[in-house]
Amino acid sequence: MAVKNYQATISEVEKAAHATYRVRFALPEGETIEFQPGQFMTIKVSDSARRSYSIASAPENNTYLETFADTVAGGPGSQFFAHAEVGGKAEFLAPLGRFVYRSTDRPAYFFATGTGLTPFLSMVRFALDTEKTTRKLHLLFGLRHEGDIFAEDILKAYAEKYSNFSYEICLSRPDAGWTGFTGRVTARIPDIAETDIDLYICGSQKMINDVESAFLAKGVPEAQIYYEQFY
Ligand SMILES: Cc1cc2nc3c(=O)[nH]c(=O)nc-3n(C[C@H](O)[C@H](O)[C@H](O)COP(=O)(O)OP(=O)(O)OC[C@H]3O[C@@H](n4cnc5c(N)ncnc54)[C@H](O)[C@@H]3O)c2cc1C
Repeated sequence: MAVKNYQATISEVEKAAHATYRVRFALPEGETIEFQPGQFMTIKVSDSARRSYSIASAPENNTYLETFADTVAGGPGSQFFAHAEVGGKAEFLAPLGRFVYRSTDRPAYFFATGTGLTPFLSMVRFALDTEKTTRKLHLLFGLRHEGDIFAEDILKAYAEKYSNFSYEICLSRPDAGWTGFTGRVTARIPDIAETDIDLYICGSQKMINDVESAFLAKGVPEAQIYYEQFY
């Protein structure tokens, strides 16, 4: 899979949560891209800055790349996405990274905080729709408030269609009335008894460290733990 610079056109922009945008980058007519689920692109977000964004779309859809971008940090990457408009131009280098889905028969657990969910959307789409895996896939998605939740429509549709896929949204600071799980994703770790699993972790450094060390202590082999740090 050759890494290449692409000149794309923004073909879809959706405000997916209070500070998160789903943006689709369409490749020029006739061009396609090959990538592995979990990989990312580095987008030229200003004249002097590039930022990395994971690919949420499935490799099967090879005429565009889609991502979910959090704009809370407020830097040039956030500015780029907060002002993204359909028809706008974008330059990116892709595909990059080694945080990719591994096809095995072991149960797979995915731990995401915030837009750390992004690469997992590509992995889940690939594993279920393309590979038609029957392995168990369970995803824990951590956010602060209900207004931060994005892509739940996608997760819900997969959970309804495939009995081997399940997910749970964990809110650390929900408003009154939230009936789902209250707490960080790490609070769910004691409930997971299996140790011969593949573990994928994506998001903040602290969450990655906490999840990885908890599963290493349980006896999950280090070689079966994969992570990507966003910040
Ligand atoms: C491989 C890789 C893939 C990535 N994929 C995605 C993705 O799919 N979606 C996405 O939204 N981001 C993703 N990121 C993070 C992204 O590249 C930017 O770091 C982020 O969008 C902030 O960029 P910025 O220019 O707005 O802020 P910067 O000027 O780069 O950062 C300002 C400060 O905010 C901190 N910060 C960065 N992100 C956050 C955050 N979410 N919450 C709180 N503090 C933060 C930084 O550590 C820094 O101190 C990825 C990062 C990497 C390394």
